[in-house]
Amino acid sequence: MGKKKSKRKPPPKSKAIEPLETQFNCPFCNHERSCEVKMDKSRNTGRITCRVCMECFQSQINYLSEPIDVYNDWIDACETAN
Ligand SMILES: [Zn+2]
Repeated sequence: MGKKKSKRKPPPKSKAIEPLETQFNCPFCNHERSCEVKMDKSRNTGRITCRVCMECFQSQINYLSEPIDVYNDWIDACETAN
């Protein structure tokens, strides 16, 4: 007599909606995914803040903008400042 050992896992749900990436590496303190972008579409402003070193940056956005655009603006601004 054998015990039934096999457990069947339910199949993973195929519909995986990936949330929009809003966390990025910080160019100042180099922590991974410590910078979070908030998109304020009503004010056409994107704001990114690092929760580790508290660096922050604001950028103009439009209805097509994505968090990565704010982040890229920030990186550009950093490089310009240097
Ligand atoms: Zn930082």
